[in-house]
Amino acid sequence: MNLEKGGHWRNWVGNQSCISRYKGAPASEAQLAQMVAEANAHNLNIRVAGSGHSFTPVVGTGGVLLSLAGMKGVLDADLATRRVTFAAGTRIGEAGQALKSLGLSLTNQGDIDGQAVAGAFATGTHGTGAKLSCLASQVVGMRLVQPDGGILTIGESDIDMLHAAQVSIGVLGVISAVTLQTMPAYNLHEKLWREDFESCMARHDELAASHRHFGFFWCPVPESRHLYCLPDLSPVSLTDKTADYCEMKTLDITDAPPMVREFEKIAYSSEVYPIEYVPNFHELEYAVPIEHGKEAVRAVRELMLTKHTNCIYPIEYRFTAGDPAWMSPFHHMDSITLSVSGGPGIDYWEYLKDVDIILRRYGSRPHWGKLHFLDTDDVSALYPRAEDFRALRRKLDPEGRFLNDHLRMLFG
Ligand SMILES: Cc1cc2nc3c(=O)[nH]c(=O)nc-3n(C[C@H](O)[C@H](O)[C@H](O)COP(=O)(O)OP(=O)(O)OC[C@H]3O[C@@H](n4cnc5c(N)ncnc54)[C@H](O)[C@@H]3O)c2cc1C
Repeated sequence: MNLEKGGHWRNWVGNQSCISRYKGAPASEAQLAQMVAEANAHNLNIRVAGSGHSFTPVVGTGGVLLSLAGMKGVLDADLATRRVTFAAGTRIGEAGQALKSLGLSLTNQGDIDGQAVAGAFATGTHGTGAKLSCLASQVVGMRLVQPDGGILTIGESDIDMLHAAQVSIGVLGVISAVTLQTMPAYNLHEKLWREDFESCMARHDELAASHRHFGFFWCPVPESRHLYCLPDLSPVSLTDKTADYCEMKTLDITDAPPMVREFEKIAYSSEVYPIEYVPNFHELEYAVPIEHGKEAVRAVRELMLTKHTNCIYPIEYRFTAGDPAWMSPFHHMDSITLSVSGGPGIDYWEYLKDVDIILRRYGSRPHWGKLHFLDTDDVSALYPRAEDFRALRRKLDPEGRFLNDHLRMLFG
């Protein structure tokens, strides 16, 4: 056996864990393929852990748990087309640094850069920007290890297959490499300030239209910002309020050279996107059709100010353009994303359920990596290509080797 005796695994925040029978850490695609084939021959289920930054049970298995942390780096770079292929275990931050040295940048990134590239795309990870789609839409090709160890090469020549695989939550096979469409390197100019909630709502459309990236954190009480390690923006506040205000952020491409001032900086793209978090929150996040964004955030704010006054993690509010990936939360839906969190050890379930009830009214779709309440029927109702995705999954993996109980319920 190439596989080793398994053991305990837990995610970054510690709300998901499993004890796998075997584990494997391949150093190459060939080794990976051998391990998958071996697990399949022994009728074992196979899951891959990226960097464990999902809050949902999308990783755990009692079968074989693989880590691709030993499969990293640039495999190929075509500077003419700006297409770069990464080994699937490369972290987003490592991809950013590699692209910087090639004079390239990722089109957009999320709030952290510790995820594995394959792990980030697999759940539909996004940043913010009304005209920018989720990270998976940068994927133009990939190599997928199938249950028998065979390699499926996916590219734009089979566009349906590409759109199925861009956001796959790891149920179509193990991704060994991803090819990303990148763009010329750019610097971002970040500006931070504080603003009254009503003023933020009044300027919502204009700020989203006039900046490449705009998003905010709504803080119900002064302590809220500490829970997400947000800076003290009182010196650049446009409001006298010390509660019920928004921590605002815009990012725009600039030709200006790097600089750092308080609450403002210019640096290479990938060095500006990420912010710091500590593992003190369990997050739910839904993509809401953009036309309902303001109404939705008002409704959740009202819920927090009236019924759940002890729930004080900020609401994070961002923008993401629609994309064609079959299981993308943004599937043909320009969206805002609204996220809320509960604290570990606190019974926050009723609060999250109330938020879910509100956001369902708008036909919102959850982030696959963040807490949600979807069942089989909800997936079918919300995703027009859900049945096509399930049929493809069954065709590629008839024995369900790449499923666990959670994923079987959603995509079996
Ligand atoms: C602090 C924090 C900040 C975050 N910020 C954002 C944000 O700004 N925007 C956003 O959208 N999300 C955000 N997330 C969520 C996070 O981006 C997603 O959950 C992402 O999927 C995590 O990537 P990962 O590498 O940790 O993958 P994991 O959580 O380990 O795995 C995710 C899924 O991908 C599968 N997978 C991983 N690698 C492979 C592979 N090689 N082949 C097949 N399947 C694979 C796993 O089996 C699993 O199903 C954040 C999460 C945290 C904890």
